Amino acid sequence: MTDRQQRHQRAMQKLKAHVDDKVAAADQQRGLLLVFTGNGKGKTTAAWGTVTRALGYGYRVGVVQFIKGLWECGERERLAADANLEVSIMATGFTWETQNRESDTAACQAVWQDAARLLADPEVYLVVLDEITYMLKFGYLDIDTVRQAIADRPPEQSVIVTGRNAHRELIEMADTVSEMQDVKHAFDAGIQARRGIDY
Ligand code: ATP
Ligand code: MG
Repeated sequence: MTDRQQRHQRAMQKLKAHVDDKVAAADQQRGLLLVFTGNGKGKTTAAWGTVTRALGYGYRVGVVQFIKGLWECGERERLAADANLEVSIMATGFTWETQNRESDTAACQAVWQDAARLLADPEVYLVVLDEITYMLKFGYLDIDTVRQAIADRPPEQSVIVTGRNAHRELIEMADTVSEMQDVKHAFDAGIQARRGIDY
């Protein structure tokens, strides 16, 4: 064995020991709270990827789409036939168009009822609260209500929260937080959102 091969082997052994220690230390099993936030692209995509992952094992999944419910969404089209998936969408579409605080609040509260029901159902393995961060920001939903519902959920249930500017309290209570960083985005170069890629 050359010097270089020996060095590589030693480094790999060290790495393996480190990973083994970490695997041994991770001895808890329970549902997770994940937050996908930040200004870069990929938050909702990652949420639907995880939905697909859970459905792949036959788990029940609930997706609640705040704000962008009326927008097209390829994953929803593809997965809708799966009897284990329930999707609830906010009725009014997005607020920059409707700009009616009262009806937006009512629509938000209505779809939140579905979220609350899913968060209380031990048969549901994963709940996605897509773009809910904006509901909290606009004051259509109250952080205490959301925090309580997430905290009281069944222990085996996981929850994914997506959206920019996630509330500090959600970040604090989360198990996994990923911030998508905007390095560049095609839209800034004048390229339109692309079907099957962006939605
Ligand atoms: P995606 O749904 O593609 O995973 P996202 O959930 O991270 O994106 P949102 O803020 O929900 O991001 O925006 C959704 C739409 O806006 C998508 O069409 C996405 O491609 C686009 N988008 C996301 N990030 C940016 C950005 N930094 N600049 C411009 N457009 C963006
Ligand atoms: Mg999104």
